[in-house]
Amino acid sequence: MTEPVVLPDFNSFGDQAIKGLDNPEEATAATQALLKEDRNSGEPEIHGPGENFLTLERGICREGVWYREAEVKELTGADEEALAAAGTNAFRVFETLLLRGVRTVGNEVMDRKLAGELLIGDREYLVMAIRRATFGDDLEFEELPCPRCEELVDLTVPLGAIPFTHLDDPEQTEFEVPLRTGDTAIVRLPTGEDQAAVMAIKSDNVAKKDSEILSRCVLRIRHADGSETRRPPATSLGMASRKTVLQFLTDTQPGPRYNDFSFTHETCGKEVELPINLAVLFRGM
Ligand SMILES: [Zn+2]
Repeated sequence: MTEPVVLPDFNSFGDQAIKGLDNPEEATAATQALLKEDRNSGEPEIHGPGENFLTLERGICREGVWYREAEVKELTGADEEALAAAGTNAFRVFETLLLRGVRTVGNEVMDRKLAGELLIGDREYLVMAIRRATFGDDLEFEELPCPRCEELVDLTVPLGAIPFTHLDDPEQTEFEVPLRTGDTAIVRLPTGEDQAAVMAIKSDNVAKKDSEILSRCVLRIRHADGSETRRPPATSLGMASRKTVLQFLTDTQPGPRYNDFSFTHETCGKEVELPINLAVLFRGM
């Protein structure tokens, strides 16, 4: 029997400027609770050999060549202990998942540096693959209260049903974002290292965290007259420009959109948002 999953507030994930960056923190408490309570409910799964391989959206570049193949593994009891020891910092839990659950990216063995180099979306896709290798493809929900009609719903969600964003061109590393001022921001997408820098900020000040991301990911501002400002201080960007760039970074980041999953509840016919977080992915550990 799987314990009914008590979901966090249905709307608590949807409004963040950078969803991918803010998720792990929100999922922590729930993850830890489930790690404790739900240890024995994982069904044994039989895996074919191909299931532990995946192709990342971006991957890594070595001497001009892109490597996208990655291999994950099934998490063991030792990994479970390491995850429990990662404490309540969600970023650390996420990082531990990657370090323990990913064998290789390209020909390189996973380590902290490599994990930091990967796009946030590739990291989130790897976590999905680790989940698949460990517990199989289906997320089972039992007695989930429908927030629209309050009926309890049993639901099976294959991982493949979670919306997924692809990069138009996996090798494109710089993007142009037109700003309201007539300027153009030239940006790159945030990586694990950027995420770590944001998490290291000991403050709840969201604007400060946004500034950190912007100062790292806005490479240049091209002005209407063709001149460029390299590495503009994030605090010098107008509020509208900051918002535009952050939205672009969120929308363009490839990989699974855990927050964007929804289903139609047959009884009431309503669309129900069901954000998938770490706790949901790894319950049963
Ligand atoms: Zn309903």
